[in-house]
Amino acid sequence: MDRILEIASSDLVAVAQPGVVVSHLQRAVEKEGLFYPPDPASSEFASLGGTVAECAGGLRGLKYGVTRDYILGLEAVLADGNILRTGCRALKSVTGYDLTRLFVGSEGTLAVFTEITCKLLPLPSCILTLLASFPAIEGGLDAASVVVASRLLPRALEYMDERCIRCVDDYGDAHFPPEAKSCLLVELDGFDEESLVRDAKKVERICRDQGALTLERAVDTKARDGLWAARRAISPSLYRMSAKKVNEDICVPRSKMSKMIREIQQIEREMGLPIVNFGHAGDGNIHVNVMVDKEEEMPRARDAVKRIFQRAVALGGTLSGEHGIGLAKASFLSIEVGERELETMKNIKALFDPTGILNPGKIFV
Ligand SMILES: Cc1cc2nc3c(=O)[nH]c(=O)nc-3n(C[C@H](O)[C@H](O)[C@H](O)COP(=O)(O)OP(=O)(O)OC[C@H]3O[C@@H](n4cnc5c(N)ncnc54)[C@H](O)[C@@H]3O)c2cc1C
Repeated sequence: MDRILEIASSDLVAVAQPGVVVSHLQRAVEKEGLFYPPDPASSEFASLGGTVAECAGGLRGLKYGVTRDYILGLEAVLADGNILRTGCRALKSVTGYDLTRLFVGSEGTLAVFTEITCKLLPLPSCILTLLASFPAIEGGLDAASVVVASRLLPRALEYMDERCIRCVDDYGDAHFPPEAKSCLLVELDGFDEESLVRDAKKVERICRDQGALTLERAVDTKARDGLWAARRAISPSLYRMSAKKVNEDICVPRSKMSKMIREIQQIEREMGLPIVNFGHAGDGNIHVNVMVDKEEEMPRARDAVKRIFQRAVALGGTLSGEHGIGLAKASFLSIEVGERELETMKNIKALFDPTGILNPGKIFV
C-alpha cells in the first residue's frame, strides 16, 4: 500500500496509502508547489501510516505543528474487519466526535489505517538556515528561549549538547570549535526574502548576545544540506560512544528546558552513566539518550529514565513528545496519566478492540 492516490492543488489535499514513505510524499507535493510540513528526522524511511499512528513530530514542529495537524481523514480497518471512514477532505468539520484525532497517535492499538487524507500548504519559496555554537551547555537552549520570546517563528530550532557535537564533528559542513559545548540550528522560511533576512539578523544578534562562538549562515540548498547533515547524523553517530542507547523523548514547557537539562546532568552524576541530549528546542522536546555499554548497566539506565520522566512531569511536561509509549514506556504511563484517565483510555481500547488483537502490550501493560 505505497501509492500516492491523489494530489489535489485546488483543495490543498493529498490522499495516500499508509506505506508511502514520508519523504516521497513531501517531494511529490513539492513538485506541485505544495508542502507537507510534518518532517521527522526519519522521513527518508518512515511510512506515512507509521507517522500517523505515532503522531510524529519532527524538525518543523515549532512553526507547523505535528502530524495530527495535517490529517483530515482516514480509512481504517477495525479489529472486527469492518471499514470505518473518519473526517472528510474539507478543511473543517465538527460533525460528531473527532474520530480522526482519536486515531492519530493511537499507535496501532485501535485500528489499521488503509488510506490517509492529508492537508497541504503552499510551499515556502525562501529558506534560510543558521548554525551557532556556544561555550556553555545551556547556551543553545537559552538562545532558543530568547528567539521564541522575541516573537520570531523559525520553522526549526534544533539543539545539540557537547557530546552530540563531538559525535557528529566529521559529518557534513558543520564546523564546531573544540570549546563548543552546545549548538543551535535555526531554520527560517517564508515567501518574502527581505523579511526573512531581517529575522535572520535578529536571530544572529540573539545568538551573539548569548555568547555564540561561531555563526554560520546557509541560503542555497547545498549549503543548507551541509549544515543539516550533522543534525541528521546524530542518532547513528551516538553508537561511536557506546554500544547501546536508551532513547527517550520527554517534552517540557519551553521556559523549563534549561532547568530540565540541569536536572538531567544531576541524574547523570547520580547514576554514573553518560547522558546525551539533543532535540527540538522550539517545542521543548528533548531527546535524552542514556548511553550503555554492558547489559548489567541496563537496570541503572531504566532507573535514570524513570527519574527523568518524573522530573519532566513535575516541570509540567510529558513522557513522550513524539515517539509514543509503545512497549518500552508502558510501565511508566502512570507517572503522567491518572487512574481515571487511564481507565477512560482502556475503555476506548476495549470499545474498538474488545479481544485485544491490535498491537497487544502497547501503551498499556
Ligand atoms: C533515526 C530516527 C529518527 C527519528 N526522528 C523522529 C523525529 O524527529 N520525530 C518523530 O516524531 N519521530 C522520530 N522517529 C520515530 C518515528 O516516530 C518513526 O520513525 C515514525 O513515526 C514511525 O514510522 P515507521 O514507518 O517507522 O513506523 P513503524 O515503526 O513501522 O510503526 C510504528 C507504530 O505504528 C503502527 N502502525 C504502522 N503503520 C500503521 C497503520 N497503517 N495503521 C495503524 N498503525 C500503524 C505500528 O504497528 C507501530 O506500532 C525517529 C526514528 C528514527 C529511527
